[in-house]
Amino acid sequence: MIGAQIQKLTEDLPQDVTLVAVSKTKPNSAIEEAYGIGHRDFGENKVQELCQKAEELPNDIRWHMIGHLQRNKVKYIAPFVHLIHGVDSEKLLTEINKQGAKNNRVIDVLIQLHIAEESSKFGFSYEEAEALFTNQNQFPNVRIVGLMGMATFTEDKTQIKREFETLSTFYNTWKAQKELSILSMGMSNDYPIAIASGSNMIRVGSLIFGRRN
Ligand SMILES: *Cc1c(COP(=O)(O)O)cnc(C)c1O
Repeated sequence: MIGAQIQKLTEDLPQDVTLVAVSKTKPNSAIEEAYGIGHRDFGENKVQELCQKAEELPNDIRWHMIGHLQRNKVKYIAPFVHLIHGVDSEKLLTEINKQGAKNNRVIDVLIQLHIAEESSKFGFSYEEAEALFTNQNQFPNVRIVGLMGMATFTEDKTQIKREFETLSTFYNTWKAQKELSILSMGMSNDYPIAIASGSNMIRVGSLIFGRRN
């Protein structure tokens, strides 16, 4: 069933859109089912769960850290993480850079921008992100490859669209100059709007794996 869900979803996606299957709270067997049909990109939002799954599952899986990341936990995922989506402070970026250096690698990250009109979501403002790009060379072991954002949790599709389009505009403004290639936005309930607004990486959980408890 999980495999069929992924196949159905990816068939309808534009070629350039990457599907990150969000497997948080789901057992290894669910991931193995998706892996079995060739899926390799999985997202988790808890460091401990991510590390445990990474240890137990095949090592060609590309692990995406999608949730809010605490600085003191970066060290656990630094050796292997494929992409960190939610970088929302300069202190966190500094720590990722430090752990990247320790592990002799350059870690790919996305800068999370605060696009939701509701106040509870993490992320940089446009101005803060701009400043961060200017100081990018202070972080040689980090590569900022794109932007990430979450829309307000609402039924109001016009609002969701407006928020995604705001992020897309920033992305298009910075893309060439800052060498960005990933715009991560869209989840189970809003990914079609996200893609229509220019997203090229969607993070989909419940639509693939079923509802979480
Ligand atoms: C859980 C989560 C998702 C996936 O949510 P679904 O609604 O299950 O698709 C996407 N992005 C982030 C940051 C999440 O925490």
